[in-house]
Amino acid sequence: MNSRYVQPLRIAIQWIFLLFMLYLGARLYLFVQAVRAGDLAGLAPRPDGVEGFLPISGLLGVKDWLVNGTINPVHPAAVVILLTVVAVSLLLKRSFCSWICPVGTLSELLWKRGFVVLRRNVRPPLWLDRVLRGIKYLLLLFFLSSILWVMPPAAVSGFVNSDYNKIADVRLLDFFLGLSGVPLAIIIVLVILSLPVRNPFCRYLCPYGALLGLVALVSPLKVTRERAACVSCGLCTQVCPAYIPVMAKERVHSEECIGCWRCVSHCRAAGALEMKLPGRKIAVSGIVFAMLVVGLFWGGTVIGKITGHWRTAIPLSEYVRLLGD
Ligand code: SF4
Ligand code: SF4
Repeated sequence: MNSRYVQPLRIAIQWIFLLFMLYLGARLYLFVQAVRAGDLAGLAPRPDGVEGFLPISGLLGVKDWLVNGTINPVHPAAVVILLTVVAVSLLLKRSFCSWICPVGTLSELLWKRGFVVLRRNVRPPLWLDRVLRGIKYLLLLFFLSSILWVMPPAAVSGFVNSDYNKIADVRLLDFFLGLSGVPLAIIIVLVILSLPVRNPFCRYLCPYGALLGLVALVSPLKVTRERAACVSCGLCTQVCPAYIPVMAKERVHSEECIGCWRCVSHCRAAGALEMKLPGRKIAVSGIVFAMLVVGLFWGGTVIGKITGHWRTAIPLSEYVRLLGD
């Protein structure tokens, strides 16, 4: 099955999502500016999709939901998006990271530029790579244990309904608009590191990616190599952004696999490398995979909207009070 078209298709989808998220960010900016200026006539509503950038609020909302049986009305979209992304990872590996996440898109752009300029990408020594990869799991453990185990349910509900959480999206916007000092220096270092090293933020620091990687271990779809058809050219291993030695695998079980299809797209031996269900008989084509990624993601948000768990219940008067402080 020729899968060369998958990479242009995936990159197009990545950029559509990136542009859409920039559009949501711009709408939030205009909303905040108007509220702060008291210019409320004809004000366009705050875009609820920006809650995709609030995974901590989403996680707190999930615990609150488990305890109280209802999804909080403060940031319901954060809960819906978090659960949707986890569901996508359950079925389709960490495809969110390589098809939808804007950080993944920019990171991929950088290491590909780095490859063009430096004519190679580098990988830290194996021991260092392992140590660094542990950071994102420690961060994940910290967040999961703090929110799911340490924080009492009443404290979680209190935080979810707090003024701080109500404008968590605005705080995030202000943070990025006013970047300076140490946070700015860290971002610059990460950008520079992303030129020679493939996806250092996603690989070493992102606790969201760590969570999705663990969930994706049970995903039924996995890159599968047919030894009889493989000509051992090593191209799949070379192009893998997650540094997985694909050529040495029969089936890629790694939690680092981001489901990007680069290995499958670059393989020139017919039938050697495919995305297959368990049993190795049924292969999924790139177009079906792409439709599933986009369809499941949008489907999750549509279900959130239909069931009334999307739009925040925070009234405009509350935004006026909170942003006027
Ligand atoms: S790119 Fe294809 S043929 Fe080459 S090593 Fe990988 S699976 Fe085998
Ligand atoms: S194994 Fe293939 S699909 Fe997984 S990250 Fe590597 S190149 Fe992408």
